[in-house]
Amino acid sequence: MIYTFSPPRPVAVPVADSDALFPVHRVYCVGRNYADHALEMGGSPDREPPFFFSKPADAIILDSVVPFPPMTGDLHHEVELVVALGAGGIPVDEAAASAMVYGYAVGVDLTRRDLQSAAKKQGRPWDVAKGFDHSAPLSTILPASECGHPGRGIIRLAVNGEEKQRGDLSQMIWSVPEVLVELSRYFELRSGDLVFTGTPAGVSALKQGDRVECSIEGVGDLDFTMGGE
Ligand code: MN
Repeated sequence: MIYTFSPPRPVAVPVADSDALFPVHRVYCVGRNYADHALEMGGSPDREPPFFFSKPADAIILDSVVPFPPMTGDLHHEVELVVALGAGGIPVDEAAASAMVYGYAVGVDLTRRDLQSAAKKQGRPWDVAKGFDHSAPLSTILPASECGHPGRGIIRLAVNGEEKQRGDLSQMIWSVPEVLVELSRYFELRSGDLVFTGTPAGVSALKQGDRVECSIEGVGDLDFTMGGE
């Protein structure tokens, strides 16, 4: 048997300071995992169970210019710690979940906020708001063997030199291992899975030509410019 056309190349993310590539399986995202962002989105800061949505693996973009998406008048940035799984399965506890982590990266969960707001009101799915092409700018992956499992550290994002988001990983409502344990109740985790772990407050709109600079202490940096449509 032959393919009817050439299958797409696997999505892969470079490992920092290495020739290695991390092959991506799925991209999961956690909603409202910092209390101050939950509040700015009109939610509760209480410890409600985390909820999940996903992006297609090929939404990941590693380029320095990110095409500006069509069909939105309110494109928001959300800087997030991204967890890269090197092993799969269903972790029995938080220690087992941490042991599945290959490394960490800096990502931005780009969001068509206008479409998301409309979907929420109408009870519709979030795919067009969250899972569009180039909606997941990502840095290289830093192995946990180098950075450990960061439980605290400044997470920040600036637009054109002006700081918009600043928080600390310790402000997560659900820690990385807790997120993985909860996620694995719904999906069997696989090596190659990426998990965006939520954003601190300060999300705001981007426009064409904006320079976006992000960093997570102890993990890395991610810089890109918003291109044209
Ligand atoms: Mn997000």
